[in-house]
Amino acid sequence: MKIDVLTLFPEMFDGVFGASILGKAKEKGIVSLQAVNFRNYSNNKHNTVDDYPYGGGGGMVLKPEPVFAAVEDLAVEPDVAPRVILMCPQGETFTQRKAEELSRERHLVLICGHYEGYDERIREHLVTDELSIGDYVLTGGEIPAMTVIDSVVRLLPGVLGNESSAVTDSYSTGLLEHPHYTRPPEFRGWTVPDVLISGHHGRIDSWRREQSLLRTLIRRPELLDKVELSKKERLWLEEQRKALRTEYEME
Ligand code: SAM
Repeated sequence: MKIDVLTLFPEMFDGVFGASILGKAKEKGIVSLQAVNFRNYSNNKHNTVDDYPYGGGGGMVLKPEPVFAAVEDLAVEPDVAPRVILMCPQGETFTQRKAEELSRERHLVLICGHYEGYDERIREHLVTDELSIGDYVLTGGEIPAMTVIDSVVRLLPGVLGNESSAVTDSYSTGLLEHPHYTRPPEFRGWTVPDVLISGHHGRIDSWRREQSLLRTLIRRPELLDKVELSKKERLWLEEQRKALRTEYEME
């Protein structure tokens, strides 16, 4: 996969692209990551990429020419139309489903804004997706772009050492992941659940599934409507729901 990020601050990506899973994925040749300064594509002698908004008001607006020129220059591979993603707090909220969808593409171009906004023609005529990482506003699109890139790249085959770990991650299964424990078996009087040290894989799997369902019920109950559950699981969840309600009423 090829990922290009259009930014006015390419140096922000130096550490992120070189370290941890992204650094390893790059080293293994699974992904090529490039931060491109779209100021290099400005078509004026002062290298400006922004201008005052028509109609007045505060803040500056990113001009269309450098952004269009940069995307067109990067989309050169025949038969590969890149997904052109505008980082934007008004966009579709980024989810694990979206990360999975993007991980099947061959070329992503992410556009990081700064200032007040983008010229609307970028949104209307250049981009294929608009993504927000949540209902809050950051100074620029760089940190949101890093978030998207990290979550996409870790899904590419061969990137994670343990192939199954991305599959069981929270949201990949539609549920939140079960709790984890490691050694020592007792820490400050707090013990590890017996089942996990029983060596009985069938019981461990059932415990993990139940914990995952329970954690989702407590923290993100709305996710349960979207996952496929057995009749037995639905009944078990109903009992847990009642028990939680009773516990809450007694407090
Ligand atoms: N005036 C804009 C608005 O109200 O929608 C906010 C502009 S923000 C200060 C500057 C840039 O940061 C945006 O163009 C976008 O690239 C990025 N950004 C800020 N918050 C974001 C979020 N939650 N998700 C994705 N990108 C974000």
